[in-house]
Amino acid sequence: NTDVRESMYLVSEFAKIYFHDTLLNSEEGKAIGYSYFKERGFTNETIKKFSLGYSPEAWDAFTKEALGKGYKLEFLESTGLTIPRDDRPFDRFKGRVMFPIQSMSGRVLGFGGRILTNDKKAAKYLNSPESDIYHKSKVLYGIFQAKQSIAKLNNCYLVEGYTDVIQFNQSGIENVVASSGTALTPDQIRLINRLTKNITVLFDGDAAGLRASVRGIDLILEEGMNVKVCTFPDGEDPDSFAKKTSYEDLVLYLENNAKDFIQFKASLLMNEAKNDPIKKADLIRDMVVSISKIPDRIQREIYIQECSRIMDISEQVLQSTLAQLVQKDV
Ligand code: ATP
Ligand code: MN
Ligand code: MN
Ligand code: MN
Repeated sequence: NTDVRESMYLVSEFAKIYFHDTLLNSEEGKAIGYSYFKERGFTNETIKKFSLGYSPEAWDAFTKEALGKGYKLEFLESTGLTIPRDDRPFDRFKGRVMFPIQSMSGRVLGFGGRILTNDKKAAKYLNSPESDIYHKSKVLYGIFQAKQSIAKLNNCYLVEGYTDVIQFNQSGIENVVASSGTALTPDQIRLINRLTKNITVLFDGDAAGLRASVRGIDLILEEGMNVKVCTFPDGEDPDSFAKKTSYEDLVLYLENNAKDFIQFKASLLMNEAKNDPIKKADLIRDMVVSISKIPDRIQREIYIQECSRIMDISEQVLQSTLAQLVQKDV
């Protein structure tokens, strides 16, 4: 229902401005939220560019303000900004720093909110719930700020988190978007495909990040897009790495460490597989499965040649394995 959606967009836009204003101008926002972002190294310009905000700790500070301005409880609740309760509805994001999630055209669809403590019991990030305007599998954080740069540079860096996007922007790299913790989806990849055919995956340098990179590869290839992967040292993510690296060194690192998917899989698994024929066979089969996802026949051929060279196995064997996987073309 478009009427309902329009009202939800209006409430969300109001919330973005309220949280941003609270961060910059309220005593609590300055002392807690603003100083948190400063500690993370974000400049005022960055805070503005991403409309970062703060939601007060009080039970219903935001809800009261919005109701007072005439916004309807119905839409405060359907956007998830307010949590229903018979006696006294309350703010979902109270006491968190706020990251508005925008569409390609800049509409506010939802929010991510981060706690400021290191309380392991509370979820570090809380997101808006699925709603008529927020479908987490169809959005990419940062796409509004990144779209020009992605189109001009004809490449998109894909990271995991909000702060990775923001820190890269501050380092001078703007063609970057985040899947925001959800497993990458075909809809998210198609959003990038509207701007470029080239994706470089930059996931966290931990086991979860590597697993997610591997899963992302086949999805990207299936869309007929080109994928590279650049890994970070264990324990680092793009945010922490960029924060302590100059722009020049960051660009060099990305250039020198971006691998195509054959090289990436080889580097990831070759150590284990080198002296174990069965593991090596599994790795080669896995590479051919990825190759089979590529719609273009000539590209498949080129990757078969690369795989043959890197894994030291005949092209004929790879071709026949591929043929079993890509029946339609044979
Ligand atoms: P920070 O640097 O602020 O600690 P991060 O972005 O490095 O955060 P990760 O743990 O690497 O955090 O997670 C990557 C992304 O996954 C986050 O930016 C967020 O979008 C999402 N995420 C992480 N934890 C949660 C959670 N508990 N609930 C929902 N989403 C989460
Ligand atoms: Mn992580
Ligand atoms: Mn991270
Ligand atoms: Mn991080």
